[in-house]
Amino acid sequence: MLMTEIKEECGVFGITSPFTYDAATTVYYGLYSLQHRGQESCGIVVNDDGVFCSHKDLGQVNEVFQPQILSELGQGQIAIGHVRYATTGSADRANAQPIVVNHIKGSMAVAHNGNLTNSFELRRELELNGSIFHSTSDTEVIAYCITRARLHCDSIEHAISEAMKKFEGAYSLIIMSPAKMIAVRDPYGLRPLCYGITEDGRYAVASESCALDAVSAKFMRDVKPGEIIVFEPGKEPVSIEDNCSRSKQHTCIFEYIYFARPDSVIDGIDVHRARVNAGRILARTYPVDADIVIGVPDSGLDAAIGYADESGIPYGIGFVKNKYIGRTFIEPGQAHRESLVDIKLNVIASVVAGKRVVLIDDSVVRGTTSKRIVKKLRDAGAREVHLRLASPTFVAACYYGTDIPDTSTLIAANNSIDEVKEYIGCDSIGFYRTEDLPGMLDGRKTFCQACFTGEYPAGSPKVTGKYRFESKRGSEMKEYTPVKEGKVRELYEADGNMIMVATDRISAFDVILKNKIDGKGIVLTQMAKFWFDLTKGLVPNHVISTDVNDMPEFFRKPEFKGRTTLCRKLEMLPLECIVRGYISGSCWNAYKESGTVCGIRLPEGLKESQKLDSPIYTPSTKAEIGDHDISISYEESIEVLEKYYPGRGSELARKVRNLTIAIYNKCEDYALSRGIIIADTKLEFGLDENGELVLADEVLTPDSSRFWPLDGYEEGKPQPSYDKQFVRDWLKANPDSDYNLPQDVIEKTIAKYKEAYHLITGKTI
Ligand code: SF4
Repeated sequence: MLMTEIKEECGVFGITSPFTYDAATTVYYGLYSLQHRGQESCGIVVNDDGVFCSHKDLGQVNEVFQPQILSELGQGQIAIGHVRYATTGSADRANAQPIVVNHIKGSMAVAHNGNLTNSFELRRELELNGSIFHSTSDTEVIAYCITRARLHCDSIEHAISEAMKKFEGAYSLIIMSPAKMIAVRDPYGLRPLCYGITEDGRYAVASESCALDAVSAKFMRDVKPGEIIVFEPGKEPVSIEDNCSRSKQHTCIFEYIYFARPDSVIDGIDVHRARVNAGRILARTYPVDADIVIGVPDSGLDAAIGYADESGIPYGIGFVKNKYIGRTFIEPGQAHRESLVDIKLNVIASVVAGKRVVLIDDSVVRGTTSKRIVKKLRDAGAREVHLRLASPTFVAACYYGTDIPDTSTLIAANNSIDEVKEYIGCDSIGFYRTEDLPGMLDGRKTFCQACFTGEYPAGSPKVTGKYRFESKRGSEMKEYTPVKEGKVRELYEADGNMIMVATDRISAFDVILKNKIDGKGIVLTQMAKFWFDLTKGLVPNHVISTDVNDMPEFFRKPEFKGRTTLCRKLEMLPLECIVRGYISGSCWNAYKESGTVCGIRLPEGLKESQKLDSPIYTPSTKAEIGDHDISISYEESIEVLEKYYPGRGSELARKVRNLTIAIYNKCEDYALSRGIIIADTKLEFGLDENGELVLADEVLTPDSSRFWPLDGYEEGKPQPSYDKQFVRDWLKANPDSDYNLPQDVIEKTIAKYKEAYHLITGKTI
């Protein structure tokens, strides 16, 4: 998979040393080699004789740990670290790890890879007993369960063993106490964990063996499922197996297919060899007459070698990959991205031109990336493209620490193989068969394959919504009345949260509230949900659930269906942030008149519909100015925010600006791959109870954004759009109409909204 369509959540690394030294630097190198397991935040905690010194932040290892920061972490005999990818709306610093907790028996730091399936229940139990949580990650739940058990256990390792009896799901942990480092693996061994030793007697624990190699530690062995290993500086490790043999080993098979580095060995199986095996089996299952076999970098390459070897078709290097692209936090002013596929991957035309190509990739998630890659091969002259996938079709979500999404966004879960082939545009397609999975692992039969079969070895969460309302057994159904009614939605207060019900009214012009567009509310709610899900790794959002079962009973009536969202209560910032990625609409008029857009002077000679080098961010404020079309500058936004949040103006303005751009870029990238251009959009943010920024309001809907079809896009021309354009055009042509829109205009508008929704999500309303 090229575009990190699916992400591993985390990687962990720790070191103990018989002597005091610059342990942070060793952890830095360990984390650096685990960067593929998490790229959004990282952290290191150093233990100097029981005193913990930590640093963690958003960003990749080499960005966060500049030499100065590493030296400030000081020296010690133990240090642990973590790289993280956030899957649950929590890329914020509060969720970066390792987390450090101070309890009555001393300090403890925890680094976690995996996901508990019962964290909701455990968290509620802890909260009822007085625990106060500072983050939304389940690692804090793990930490509090251990510290609670520590109150009556004589050692940290016994407290961990006790707490493990409560944990369900996946966890590979490195825990640091004032005197020890402890490695822990869940009884299923879902996520990998291993340890090794350096020549001078330092023990290293890591998610993958490639990180041991990076610090010149000799691989000793994998941590067994359910095992606790205690490392004390200068002593031999001690194994505790109280929780071993509770279950059969079920290592995640997708580690071998995609997540892990090919130079790692997990539970005795070489990742590279597993991928080559997969390629060989694919060649036997789906033979084809072809001239060349190529793999999609990086995780398709090893399987391509296997396919070529088995089939006798020559192996070729068909792509050059740009290895130096970091993740999304793009500052304004940087070059705007056309498409990540185009930037990250280029076809070597001379290798594929005129050839029948077998293209090997590890998997297909939404199908958009594969579609683009196949097109690039055809554009480069490939005569035929036969796609072979080294994993079976995804049919279910992963609850064990990866972000394989629910079935609604998995193309193969919702379409036949022929339809997938049709969508991707290849000549033939072959997915690895589930019955062949043991063949990949040299015949091993027990492993987790839940995302391919829907059978979860370690169970699945009972509560999927973050907050499920208590049922109102025996009592009459509670009536709710809106606390606020607006153009776009009605707001209800509900048990400490908010219920948002999207209305069917047109929102462009207050005066025409009387007009209704049947079904608009559902499109807006479902589309916003889609974008909220897509961007949740970048910024937390306010959506708790759109599942009707998570709502109070009152909202389970047909009229609320599909248009109702359960949200966290937020304090909305007095700003709306508009990103203009293209010269469109009012932006074009302003530019024609003054050469400026929102106060920003643009280069001369721009054309209508032209893409801007870098999207322009224009905060607007209703609270301050009273008209959301009036823009203010970035500097003015600092002033406004400073007035409302003294001392935080610059920080909030900077975060809002960066996030707005990052969200726009991520969404635009996605939309382009689905054949839609996001010309401009409006985003709003709020602050949660901890004062952290949260994305809020209706995001990227046809009411607040301008979508153009990519097909037929031409610079210098007005674009057809999937938004309220019919309404605007009709009103312009009928200035004396008193805003009584004819039915056909209303119908055309909703048809466009639904078309955009279908194009973007692949689903129909
Ligand atoms: Fe791995 Fe899939 Fe199991 Fe998740 S569900 S642990 S990705 S095999």
